[in-house]
Amino acid sequence: MERLLIKNAKIITQNLIVDGSLLALNGRVAALGVHIEADVDSEIDAKGLFLSPGFIDIHNHGRMGFDVMDASVSSLLNIAIEQIKHGVTGFLATTNTAEKGVLWRAVNVAAEFCDVDRQAERTANKPRRGAQCLGIYVEGNHISMKKRGSHPPELLRPIAQENLNTLLSAGKGNIRVMAFAPELPGSLDAIRRLRHASVVAAAAHTDATFDEAMDGINAGVTLAAHTFNSMRAMTHRDPSIIAACLLDDRVVCEAIADGTHLDPAILQLIYRLKGPDRVCLISDSVRYNGLPDGQYNRDDGRDVTVKNGVIRLGDGRLAGSSLSMNEAVRNMVRLAGIPLFHAVRMASFVPSRVIGMDAAKGSLDVGKDADMILFDEDVNVEAAFIGGKRII
Ligand SMILES: [Zn+2]
Repeated sequence: MERLLIKNAKIITQNLIVDGSLLALNGRVAALGVHIEADVDSEIDAKGLFLSPGFIDIHNHGRMGFDVMDASVSSLLNIAIEQIKHGVTGFLATTNTAEKGVLWRAVNVAAEFCDVDRQAERTANKPRRGAQCLGIYVEGNHISMKKRGSHPPELLRPIAQENLNTLLSAGKGNIRVMAFAPELPGSLDAIRRLRHASVVAAAAHTDATFDEAMDGINAGVTLAAHTFNSMRAMTHRDPSIIAACLLDDRVVCEAIADGTHLDPAILQLIYRLKGPDRVCLISDSVRYNGLPDGQYNRDDGRDVTVKNGVIRLGDGRLAGSSLSMNEAVRNMVRLAGIPLFHAVRMASFVPSRVIGMDAAKGSLDVGKDADMILFDEDVNVEAAFIGGKRII
């Protein structure tokens, strides 16, 4: 039996922040209390730091020069190691628009990585070094030409049923989310097929009108990928997919809270309309996150410029973010004036529920995995634990 006690912490539960201690037994949260006395193997004095559930970043492509599209186990491991430094204990490896074969290979390697990661939990002699890869998020290819963002236009096409089946088998049950434009031919059938396979259908890079969006939602879309970004604009006579996603309670809205992709007022607006249970903070971090300012050549031959952490294509379009999840939480509090425990919920519980893992992860409730982090007033991460084991 492994027993860990963290005391003298400000514990962030789903609805409040309370001073106290947390006891983890065999990798799970066993007790929370103002004062806990127990025989333990290790005891940590948090010295007043916040103890929070680990963040779950469902939408991130890479960082520090590594990308899920490298289709390499070592890139995925490096992403996992970078992620946990920013409080992420679980993430989805997110793919990008690519040639069929390239995409399938990336999905294949990520699926393998997820499987190995799951086994690593049980092998005590091979300690974990990074965040846990909880599955795969497939973004792209089947998106609107008009709202493609930085995705290469020559590779865009509607979903073909047989390709969807091949992709799902390449993922070996690890694909948790697929993001595409619901208004394209074949998309509604794909949404129904995905629902059947327990894969979340997300609306992304879309020019859908309000009515087209409602058709998608009625067919089973439950997630809006980076809400507002690369979506048909909302105006007073054209409510667009944005109003549909903001108004419909079946939809969780992802938000990139870096202060660049969305104005702080829009962050507040999303929060007020959706509430803390239906906003999912994401990083949408890409390979260039963490690299020095400068110009870089992308895999698709296009150049991107990184300046003060903002990543753009030559024509000025944003090409992913340099955001980390702890910064997203900090920004929600500082820029958008949202209570810390709600910002934490949008970075932990909501994403865990989106991917159907909230029975085991996403909050510090008794019985759940002891995936947790300690951070200071500025949300700088001081320690991270997965299954009660300290990783950093
Ligand atoms: Zn995107």
